[in-house]
Amino acid sequence: MPNQNLFKGRKLVIATMHGKELVIAPLLEKHLGVEVIVPKHFNSDQFGTFTRDIKRAGNQLEAARKKVEAVMLSENVDLGVSSEGSFGAHPSMPFIQSNLELLLFVDRKNGYEIRGHHRTSETNMDGQCVATVGEALDFAQKTGFPEHGVIVRRNEKGRLGIHKDIHTKDALIEKVTEMLSWPFTKSIFIETDMRAHKNPMRMKAIKKATEDLIKNIESLCTQCQAPGFVVIDFEKGLECSLCKIPTDLPLYDIYRCNVCNHSDKKKVTKYGKNADPKYCGYCNP
Ligand SMILES: [Zn+2]
Ligand SMILES: [Zn+2]
Repeated sequence: MPNQNLFKGRKLVIATMHGKELVIAPLLEKHLGVEVIVPKHFNSDQFGTFTRDIKRAGNQLEAARKKVEAVMLSENVDLGVSSEGSFGAHPSMPFIQSNLELLLFVDRKNGYEIRGHHRTSETNMDGQCVATVGEALDFAQKTGFPEHGVIVRRNEKGRLGIHKDIHTKDALIEKVTEMLSWPFTKSIFIETDMRAHKNPMRMKAIKKATEDLIKNIESLCTQCQAPGFVVIDFEKGLECSLCKIPTDLPLYDIYRCNVCNHSDKKKVTKYGKNADPKYCGYCNP
């Protein structure tokens, strides 16, 4: 396998301080034959935090790039991976929260940059104001505490009074009671902890994104054999099985190599040979 030769035995650094290597490293080692290292003193929080006390460095991809570049430089390694999560409304289901995980693989020696993604609506991302200990406990229970972490803070946006390391129900009761007894405090804000090591749901999504990354690394350009030959677009027009008129379903996936720019299309097979008439504008207007 050509990938094995490209990466085998090389050191690869993962830009993490939140235990993401637990799901990322075994997959990379198994499929690419790399030797994974994790930096001892890497503060990934300097590139942004979910608690909004430190703003993210640019968009998701830019932040992932900055992280991996920084860690490759500090560890003096030419192969690196970083991961960056984002949360927000699902693009096709606006009332549902979704988690988009991005994994970025950079090979500076060969000039490759390859991404893996996973989007899921399986996330506990949430936050609310609470005025009593009972309300805080209800929220915690609903969001999967203590397996999933929660954070309590003075208010939704402020940078001060953020408490991230609460591990038990007793500790949560104690902290919320204390915060609610502060002068002029009617309510405080509680939210889910989205850091990977405090959020098993997110860890699962990072694992899926790693699998996507490996699939993309193992997809080789049909012209120059570089890894990362990935789908960048599709061509619609799969014919309706009844009337044979082209539908809006994809007929071809368009692949492009970002090393030599070669582009190729492959027939999409996941919808079958022809489109179900329910997708047909003529049969099912
Ligand atoms: Zn190519
Ligand atoms: Zn039709």
